[in-house]
Amino acid sequence: MPKSFFPPQRTLMGPGPSDVSPRVLAALARPTIGHLDPAFIDLMDEIKVLLQYAFQTKNALTLPVSAPGSAGMEAVFANLLQAGDKVIVCQNGVFGGRMKENVERCGATAIMVQDDWGKPVDPDKLEEALRANPDALAVAFVHAETSTGVRSDAKALSALAHRYDCLAIVDAVTSLAGIELCVDDWGIDAVYSGTQKCLSCVPGLSPVSFSDRAVACIRKRRQRVQSWFLDMNLIMDYWGGDAKRSYHHTAPVNALYALHESLLMVQEEGLAAAWARHALHHKAFAVGIEALGLGFVVDASARLPQLNAVTVPTGINEAAVRAELLQAWNLEIGSGLGALAGKVWRIGLMGHTASQTNVLKCLTALGSTLQSMAAAVDTDAAVAAAKKIYQA
Ligand code: PLP
Repeated sequence: MPKSFFPPQRTLMGPGPSDVSPRVLAALARPTIGHLDPAFIDLMDEIKVLLQYAFQTKNALTLPVSAPGSAGMEAVFANLLQAGDKVIVCQNGVFGGRMKENVERCGATAIMVQDDWGKPVDPDKLEEALRANPDALAVAFVHAETSTGVRSDAKALSALAHRYDCLAIVDAVTSLAGIELCVDDWGIDAVYSGTQKCLSCVPGLSPVSFSDRAVACIRKRRQRVQSWFLDMNLIMDYWGGDAKRSYHHTAPVNALYALHESLLMVQEEGLAAAWARHALHHKAFAVGIEALGLGFVVDASARLPQLNAVTVPTGINEAAVRAELLQAWNLEIGSGLGALAGKVWRIGLMGHTASQTNVLKCLTALGSTLQSMAAAVDTDAAVAAAKKIYQA
């Protein structure tokens, strides 16, 4: 006989979802109202303003798509591209590959600029591709590659795209609110994110933002957007700034209460403080990991603070470690994706999860689990090294 579901109390230190604060969960549980209720319309207006702050943009077309990050990705490509277009896609991990899929499913051509997994996108290679493809419409890349934990220079890559008269399309699913992201200053034309990473909201929404140049591109399309649900021309009538607000789909009302609360928390903390908090906890975590004798996939200069790809020591069964952490410590960490499957753990320090308590808990749990599997690691030294960063 099915019963009410009560999930175990985990600490979420994987690649997302991250821990959701009780404040956000409480917002989620407030009474549902209609998605065209005047009170809800006011909330939508506030969400837009809070999202503009999080993205650092004045873009009027800034809203949460009612579906996860992958839908934000599809929304961007489906609205901007038409059959026959050409897009330069920079790939240095799993999610650049998904961009390619999207481009091709729009009937457009993806010109691939490949970099090794764990390395940032190389601006010189991008420039070479831009020179060779003067007819390209856009450049697309992932700011924070969650499969490896590498950060690419979104400012430089967007500037390059503009120099060659291309739109800059950026995946900010893992970067938003975790590392610096300045949509307007960096000239990003279309950006999508997710709620389950550094915003520490419940999964299932995808904030997106389009520059005026991108909106102009959508408005002058020759072909209709293939996806009815993600067609921004239609969604704008619901999320638009004017009074008409016509029905498009039933918005996920309670999830939007949660998003509003999590964005409020970002604003209260301040973006610069949130970026600094992620950097601090990463620093403490990284010295602890190194004291355990473990390494990172990514060079310190390009490492994301919020996603740590840590190499699995030889002879250790990575899945058994994750299972033990979950079972004995209620601690979730992630496995490697694609080419890194079986070789790394992906350990997230995203949003509400990025705290001293969690850094010390993870080092203790990981160290003692490895010790129990006969690995020669010193857990006390790892915890002491991390504590030193906090005491500095
Ligand atoms: N892009 C990146 C960089 C991601 O990390 C993810 C998810 O982890 C996605 C896109 C897809 O987001 P979602 O799983 O919310 O659909």
